[in-house]
Amino acid sequence: MPGTLPGGGTRTIRETLRDASLPRSELQLLWQHVLGKPRSWLIAHDADTLAEEDVERFLQLRQRRQAGEPMAYLLGEREFMGHAFRVSPAVLIPRPETEHLVEHALAEAGSGRVRRLLDMGTGSGAIAVSIALANPALEIVATDASPEALALAQDNARRLSAGVCFLHGDWYDALAGQARFDMIVSNPPYIDSRDRHLEQGDLRFEPSMALTDGADGLQALRAIVDGAAHWLNPGGSLWLEHGWDQAASVRAMLAGAGFADVKSLTDLAGIERISGGRYL
Ligand code: GLN
Repeated sequence: MPGTLPGGGTRTIRETLRDASLPRSELQLLWQHVLGKPRSWLIAHDADTLAEEDVERFLQLRQRRQAGEPMAYLLGEREFMGHAFRVSPAVLIPRPETEHLVEHALAEAGSGRVRRLLDMGTGSGAIAVSIALANPALEIVATDASPEALALAQDNARRLSAGVCFLHGDWYDALAGQARFDMIVSNPPYIDSRDRHLEQGDLRFEPSMALTDGADGLQALRAIVDGAAHWLNPGGSLWLEHGWDQAASVRAMLAGAGFADVKSLTDLAGIERISGGRYL
């Protein structure tokens, strides 16, 4: 019978949490999502008899989680820089590592030198929206090649009341008619298409176009670096997130494209996670 739990006829939260196939914290989050209640409510009501349709919805989500679907897609949201972003399988799930890029952009913009900022391949809009919320004086443009991603990013900006101008198109093609920028940031697809991680964990469910360039992982980074000079005001900067082993390659690209003050910054794990420079 659909909705019947192992053990037969189970109808309370407490009983479903005994299931050891997933972490208890994940089962609790799925219940919070199904019932639209905070964790404290679940704890206070964990022996209540639940409605059949709620149990059914919970079991469906639990089954999808057991098959590996990312929690963020099941819940429809992920927190980034303290804000709840809607996510769907059309966008990369925002990662905590990427907060580093946002924090660096905000630090540079805090100097007052940055007025117009561009986020390329914005996905859920996590980077552009977080920057806009922390520094509303900036003029922020964000692009994406995926119309579905752009619609979601727009929805996130609207719900969080962030002022961001979204443009559709491939990298710099999206910018026709735009003025130059003082800072460009991006978390582009940088995974080598042969990397076996693409067949593991959350990555199996995320959009391939957000993860890999279909080549060696450096092509999107290169396209952004090579086109940046045309779109930066004098003294403007470009900062990119990249893979743990790509920092030297990205620094070489930046230097080769005429950037000065080229450097990489490490994340909390000591990994060179972002690289950038200034175009004089
Ligand atoms: N940081 C992501 C990951 O490893 C990759 C995101 C990207 O390619 N931009 O899993």
